[in-house]
Amino acid sequence: MADAHARFGVVHDGTVADYIPALADADPALFGLSVVSVTGDSHDVGDADHPFSIQSISKAFVFALVAQDLGHDEVLRRIGVDSTGLPFDSVMALELNGGAPMNPMVNAGALATTSLVPGATPAEKWDRIVAGLSRFAGRPLEVDEDVYASEAATNQRNQAIATLLQSYGSIDADPVEATDVYTRQCSLLVTAHDLAVMAATLADGGVNPLTREQVVDAVACRDVLAALATSGLYEQSGRWLATIGLPGKSGVSGGIITIAPGKGGLATFSPPLDGAGNSVRGKLATQHLSRALGMNIFASA
Ligand code: GLU
Repeated sequence: MADAHARFGVVHDGTVADYIPALADADPALFGLSVVSVTGDSHDVGDADHPFSIQSISKAFVFALVAQDLGHDEVLRRIGVDSTGLPFDSVMALELNGGAPMNPMVNAGALATTSLVPGATPAEKWDRIVAGLSRFAGRPLEVDEDVYASEAATNQRNQAIATLLQSYGSIDADPVEATDVYTRQCSLLVTAHDLAVMAATLADGGVNPLTREQVVDAVACRDVLAALATSGLYEQSGRWLATIGLPGKSGVSGGIITIAPGKGGLATFSPPLDGAGNSVRGKLATQHLSRALGMNIFASA
């Protein structure tokens, strides 16, 4: 871990996301790594305790909650796990698929997933999401109000995707309300250490390594890992799987989680992103650690 941090801390490629104004203020020098095993052992290096908004990584955990509620067959029918091959905020992916979402890791599928969280009102859905993600983290999570306000003022594209989903009958919820709950979930503050605990929970069939609570069942975790394998790293998901060989999920604030099933979770945090929206240092460090530790699930030896 220390070696990966030292090797890639000197890389200065990539740019910090600025399409959400509040994210543009992130310090590009921040770089943290955290690994947590399914037994709760952990190792943190660098800025592993620096809080940042979870962004797209929330999609993995809200999908876990919904997969738990709907069950395997229904979640595949209503959300899907196939790759779109298109950017995360693509409207074409929906148009080309008859208005049905294709997977929960791009915005159309993520908005549909959030709208399927049980609750009579948006407030009830939100309470369930924040409670569920907090159980994954093993501590209460809170919203970064600045990031929330900044994205809420600029998320017309996500509102449009939700409206398109509604026009096709793919969501029942009010599109503006569904987008608002989704925007809040993206604004939850986490650290790389929190994300490693959350990833380790997915690695252990839904058991949080710190609290030992069964957050979701093992079938829901398998569905999440399948969705991450097909589409966790934006349009680079196939390349990620071929070089790192583990399911992962990235977000535009610079986090990446990687799950080694049965072993544990790794999280990296470094804000500068490549053209696809993945953290440059995070990818390099994860690739290095996957090789050094022999974690590729496709390797036979
Ligand atoms: N809140 C972001 C959006 O939907 C999440 C993007 C991401 O991390 O990919 O635009």
